[in-house]
Amino acid sequence: MSSKILFNDFQRQWQDIGHDVLEAVERVGKSGWLILGEAVKNFENELANLWQLPYAIGCANGLDAIEIALKCLGLQPGDLVLTTPLSAFATTLAIVRAGGVPVFVDVDDSGLIDLDLCEKIFSQDSAIRYFVPVHLYGHALNLQRLRQLKRKYKLKVVEDCAQAIGAKSKDTLVGTVGDIAITSFYPTKNLGAMGDGGALLVKTKKHERLAKSLRDYGQSKKYIHDHVGLNSRLDELQAAILHDALLPRLNDFIKRRCHIAQRYLTEIKNPNLLFVPIPKDSRSVWHLFPVLLKNSKQRTSFQQHLVNCGVASALHYPKLISDQTALKKIGKVHILSSLQCAKAFSQHQVSLPIHPYLQEEEVSRVIEACNSWAAE
Ligand SMILES: *Cc1c(COP(=O)(O)O)cnc(C)c1O
Repeated sequence: MSSKILFNDFQRQWQDIGHDVLEAVERVGKSGWLILGEAVKNFENELANLWQLPYAIGCANGLDAIEIALKCLGLQPGDLVLTTPLSAFATTLAIVRAGGVPVFVDVDDSGLIDLDLCEKIFSQDSAIRYFVPVHLYGHALNLQRLRQLKRKYKLKVVEDCAQAIGAKSKDTLVGTVGDIAITSFYPTKNLGAMGDGGALLVKTKKHERLAKSLRDYGQSKKYIHDHVGLNSRLDELQAAILHDALLPRLNDFIKRRCHIAQRYLTEIKNPNLLFVPIPKDSRSVWHLFPVLLKNSKQRTSFQQHLVNCGVASALHYPKLISDQTALKKIGKVHILSSLQCAKAFSQHQVSLPIHPYLQEEEVSRVIEACNSWAAE
C-alpha cells in the first residue's frame, strides 16, 4: 500500500531544512537578542534585494501587513476599498481592521479580480480610490493594466502577494506596481516560516518609517508613541529561520512547483476536469493548482475518489468573503457587480497537491487519480 499524498508535507520539509533551522536557532540563542535585532534586519535586507524594492519591513503575519500598509497609505475610517470576494478571508479582514469599508467586484475566468470591471467602477465612482488586488493561486494579475489603472484613477494600491512571491507579469515582479506589496510567511506559503510571519515591501523612506512604527506600538522612539500601532513584530527566530533555511531554497521550491504544474497541465486528461486559465502574461509560481469540476454537484464525489486513491485535496475557497457572517454583522459592505464568476469558483474549484516535496512518482499518482475518476 503506497503512502498518503499530503497537501503539504512539513515532516519531509524538516528532513531537508532541519539542520539549517537548528543552526539558525542556535545563532539567535547565542546572540542573546530575541526581538527586532540583527536577524530581522538581515532578513529584511535580503527580502528587499530579492524583490528589487528599496525597503522590506517584517511583521507578525500577512493580515497585519495589509492593515499596516493601508494605514501607511492614509486610509481613514469609512474609506472604500475595492477588493476581491475570492481570496483568504484575511485580505478583507485587514481592510475592516484598518477602518476601511470593503467593496467587492467579480473575478474573471482565472479567478483573479476582473480588472475590466474594476476600471468601470473607478470611472463611475470617484469615492473608491483604495485598491487591494490579490495575485491568487500564485498567478500574476496583468501588471501593465494595473499600472495604467493606478495612474489614470490615482489609486492607492496594496498588492496582496501572499500567494505569489516571485511571480511576474511579463518581466515585472508582482508587488512592484502598487504603492506597497505585502506577503505572508504562513508555513504553507511558497516562502513559509516555521510559524507565523509577514512583511511589507515599500518604496519610500516615509512608508518604511511609518510601517516600522506601526508594527511596534506606533512608537517613533522608545516610549514615544506617535501613532495608534499594533504589536506586530516578526521575531528574531522566524527571521533567522527564513533567512538561513527557506530563502536560499525559494528558487528551487518555485521551480519544483512549476515543474509539477507543467506535468498536471500536460498529463491530466479527464473531460470532467477543467484547468483554470492562466492570466495573460503571468509567469506563475503555482502556490496552488486549481481545477474546476465540469459539474459542481460532482465535487464531493471527485474529492472522495482522491481520498480513495490516497490523495489529499483542498478548496480555495468554498465560501465567498462577501457571504461570511463576520461581514454581515458589521453591515458596511458594498457589492458592485454580480459576483457570479466568483460564486462559480466557490462551487466548482478543487486544489490538487503541489508542494515542493512531492516526488515524481507521487505526481504520477495524483495524475492517475484524476484520470481514473469517472463522473457519474
Ligand atoms: C495567507 C494569506 C493572507 C494572510 O496571511 P496570514 O499570514 O495568514 O495572516 C492574506 N492574503 C492571502 C491571499 C493569503 O493567501
